[in-house]
Amino acid sequence: MIFIYICKANQVIKKERAMRIDIITVLPEMFDGPLSCSILKRAQDRGLAEIAVHNLRDYTTNKHRKVDDYPFGGEAGMVMQIQPVDACISALKAERDYDEVIFTSPDGETFNQPMANQLSLLDNIIILCGHYKGVDFRIREHLITREISIGDYVLTGGEMAAAVIADSVVRLIPGVIGDEQSALSDCFQDNLLAPPIYTRPADYKGWKVPDILLSGHQAKIDDWRYEQALLRTRTLRPDLLVN
Ligand code: SAH
Repeated sequence: MIFIYICKANQVIKKERAMRIDIITVLPEMFDGPLSCSILKRAQDRGLAEIAVHNLRDYTTNKHRKVDDYPFGGEAGMVMQIQPVDACISALKAERDYDEVIFTSPDGETFNQPMANQLSLLDNIIILCGHYKGVDFRIREHLITREISIGDYVLTGGEMAAAVIADSVVRLIPGVIGDEQSALSDCFQDNLLAPPIYTRPADYKGWKVPDILLSGHQAKIDDWRYEQALLRTRTLRPDLLVN
């Protein structure tokens, strides 16, 4: 059993096991790449996150493994059916309790860093990836607890949205990225964009790193970083400073 201590907003929350994310999709192979490298792989290798991908077709009662049908009322496009989605979610719920059953949808709440922080504190979540024209609305009315959009544009399916959500949530679990401070100083934590960062060489073709960063005065460096974060936020994303 893994014990994870999460420090957020000055609270220490003890998680008793790795976060589990179950993804339901008609295209499980789309997750081969995202799950087999970088943060999502490392988190799974270290036992800090468990990500299971389920093929919706394994849950249909249709003998041809079809999971979509024509829309009532005669619109264009196919609709994901409720039966396999219900069967898959029920099978998962028989194994464990879930904190959220998320549907990826362009008309859901727009995903942002506070939502990623919030989700990273949960134990078990399901993410349902829509496809085709969308899903039978009864799925959203009866089986889904939260709907998330990754932006105001339309994707072909929810798989890339699910990968984006999983990546941004899992990297917040302590121990997943090497230096935990680096997640806390990322853009959007504290509603500020991150300050500029530099590395060696200090002078490249006459393009110099700001002197303050080479000064060794940590307090002054911290002040400079904060000022730069404010300046960049005011210039590039003034909407973040409204509150
Ligand atoms: N007809 C739908 C779009 C269907 S796109 C509409 O107009 O709202 C097919 C699927 O891709 C959706 O069911 C959803 O799961 C996913 N998807 C598309 N755009 C998305 C976005 N911006 N964020 C999250 N999921 C999205």
